[in-house]
Amino acid sequence: MKYAIDLGHGVGRDRGASGIRDEEDLINETGALVIQKLKLLGHEVIEVRPKNCAGITNSLQQRCDAADDAKANIYVSLHFNAANGRANGTEVFAMSLPGRRLAQKIVNEISALGFINRGVKDGSHLYVVRSTSMPAVLVEGCFIDSMRDIALYEAEHMANAIVLGLCGKTPNIADKAA
Ligand SMILES: [Zn+2]
Repeated sequence: MKYAIDLGHGVGRDRGASGIRDEEDLINETGALVIQKLKLLGHEVIEVRPKNCAGITNSLQQRCDAADDAKANIYVSLHFNAANGRANGTEVFAMSLPGRRLAQKIVNEISALGFINRGVKDGSHLYVVRSTSMPAVLVEGCFIDSMRDIALYEAEHMANAIVLGLCGKTPNIADKAA
């Protein structure tokens, strides 16, 4: 399998949300582990976050183009949520039927870590979900401004849950039970 991994934000002025923790930090630490684990499982990984961009739309289009050019099989965009400090839980956006099936597996695995399961949501308004040619999911791991979620959050476990949702296995399943 060839996965396009989109580490959300992190370029130009687009630095993501801030809360108890910064979205960008959680994306980067979880994302690095997701990439490492997918490679350990023998998958090919294309990182699609651009180094430079001419604005948000250009940043998002470059990510989609990179995935399309590489003929990735699955597109995974990593994000963390922020709201009013009271919302919590995990949700995954998708549009196509295969995308939704994958999204359901991912959201179930993340909620198995103890996060509230907010379910699969319609991602047809999201640029990277609607503008990629392969099944795409956008993961909102948990809320960075929720005390509950930040207390539960652990990059290793979050990454394992995402990889488990994507592939049905992880290279180090023992971590998940810990
Ligand atoms: Zn985001």
